[in-house]
Amino acid sequence: MILDNITEEINKANNIVILTHETPDGDAIGSSLALYGALKATGKKADVIIPEYPQVFSFLPWYEEIKKESKEEKYDLAISLDCSDIKRLNGFAEYFENAKTKIVIDHHGSNTMFGDYNYVNPNSPATCEILISVFEYMGIEVNKGIGTCLATGIITDTGGFRHSTVKPETFEFTAELLNKGVNISSIYRRVLQIISMKQFEIRRIALNRMEFLEDGKIAFTYITKQEQEEMNLQTGDHEGIVEFGRDVEGVEVSIFLRELPEGGYKASFRSNEYVNVSDVCLMFGGGGHPKAAGCTILLPLEQAKEKLISQTKMYLK
Ligand code: 5GP
Ligand code: MN
Repeated sequence: MILDNITEEINKANNIVILTHETPDGDAIGSSLALYGALKATGKKADVIIPEYPQVFSFLPWYEEIKKESKEEKYDLAISLDCSDIKRLNGFAEYFENAKTKIVIDHHGSNTMFGDYNYVNPNSPATCEILISVFEYMGIEVNKGIGTCLATGIITDTGGFRHSTVKPETFEFTAELLNKGVNISSIYRRVLQIISMKQFEIRRIALNRMEFLEDGKIAFTYITKQEQEEMNLQTGDHEGIVEFGRDVEGVEVSIFLRELPEGGYKASFRSNEYVNVSDVCLMFGGGGHPKAAGCTILLPLEQAKEKLISQTKMYLK
């Protein structure tokens, strides 16, 4: 049983590094800090390394203990959370590759199984939900602090319990977290509702130029490098834009492009009913989930748009 291997490796390791995907979201940060808190509670030495992360998660316990880099040459054990592919490990693939033992815990169907032990469940709506069963198996008690981190990942990755990925267990786990004193309503408001003025302004720009193509089945918009620089946007400030397109009646696929500092575009895809956007993104070297996926495309705007849309069109009914 893989959970026996994972438990054994964690028990054996003296220094552990926790890594997650680039442009980390609530599930990435939540799962990393939940595992950090759990390892700390069992007396283990661990580092969480995340070079850039959104300020919105600063209410999470242990947030201050996140490291931007590490002086450690080699870890006994590296644990990658919520990351489907070694290329997405925040530019920190070497910490992972250099570690004596490598564990992957994730819920992406497109996971490439890049660890020695891969605990991947694509049916789980969030990596944080998978961690609940890992902690249970290992006999680690989920206290209010760990629970706050776990609830954050579950709430963000399910869009506030709205996605079709939600299972009865999702509510059962959340009910348990409520019982432990985790403030679900406050987390929900912080991570899904409140936006900064900057976020509001960038949404205004993106929505203003949103186009509806293919009889309104595709919504498309973008933001430029210049706009992001002028507004001094930080990691995560663009979150939420792609969902606006998805929520318009008749839209099946929403596409949002964000120009990258080094050139090219990061594409975010969302779908409603039947298009598997992970398949679309795989064609461009990306991936994700059936209804939420992404990829990087190194082309000028018009060409990127044309390529992504003509690929998406093939999946429309
Ligand atoms: P988002 O649009 O929120 O950045 O990403 C949506 C989902 O797609 C997330 O689960 C994310 O991990 C995945 N994803 C986004 N970009 C990429 C990519 O370039 N490669 C892979 N494999 N997955 C991605
Ligand atoms: Mn996730």
